[in-house]
Amino acid sequence: MARRRQIYEGKAKILYEGPEPGTINGKGVINNRISEYVFTRLSHIGIHTHFIRRLNMREQLVRQVEIIPLEVVVRNVAAGTLSKRLGIEEGELLPHTLIEYCLKDDALGDPKVSEEEIACFNWCSHEELQDMSSMAIRINDFLSGMFSAIDIRLIDFKLEFGRIWDGDFSRVILADEISPDGCRLWDINTGEKLDKDRFRRDLGGESEAYQEVARRLGLLQNEDSGPGEVLDMNAHRGRLRTPSKPKK
Ligand code: C5P
Repeated sequence: MARRRQIYEGKAKILYEGPEPGTINGKGVINNRISEYVFTRLSHIGIHTHFIRRLNMREQLVRQVEIIPLEVVVRNVAAGTLSKRLGIEEGELLPHTLIEYCLKDDALGDPKVSEEEIACFNWCSHEELQDMSSMAIRINDFLSGMFSAIDIRLIDFKLEFGRIWDGDFSRVILADEISPDGCRLWDINTGEKLDKDRFRRDLGGESEAYQEVARRLGLLQNEDSGPGEVLDMNAHRGRLRTPSKPKK
């Protein structure tokens, strides 16, 4: 892989050009497995994605897309920047699902943008925005059910989309990844955080939490966790129940 031309390097992954479309050099084995699983399940309900196949523990083969420079955030429960910005307590169920758009720009801190701004600066077309939001709602419905079946509440998550061309015509498909890095996942019974907030809020136990999600999804076999390994979330529980101030 390393001899291929690198076409993109982001915070979480590197894309290489290949004889087939680009590949992702994932930052984590667990995220790679979870994202493979989620994208495969989504393809079964007719969501078109860039995912082709997982190559090994750390890499996956994906279709090359023109990334739309927006992050689509879907929220079911108040948390994170929504709570901070509007003063809504974390954990409050939203009256209905909210979709937000943020501009993909690290230097600006991925600012939230309005539909008017998206149209004004032509970050994507009106039709593409409609397609992305309707896909986001379908994905949310599916993932909410998938996670609630394993006692996890899907609080919110971020999606990215890319454009693929067929002659003069283009369409948007789901890109990037879906993993605990880009989702808030809370245990339904205890409320403990099983996502990147463990790192963002300095709670500890990030990799144990990710493993717990993978284990509940039935993805951890001995090759990943070691024979007979038991995940000990109790080590972190004392700190998990302390309400923490929302911060990015
Ligand atoms: O921080 P905020 O509350 O806006 O995040 C909403 C959701 O989007 C969270 O699940 C977070 O993990 C995800 N997100 C992300 N990458 C960003 C911003 C948000 O994965 N740059």
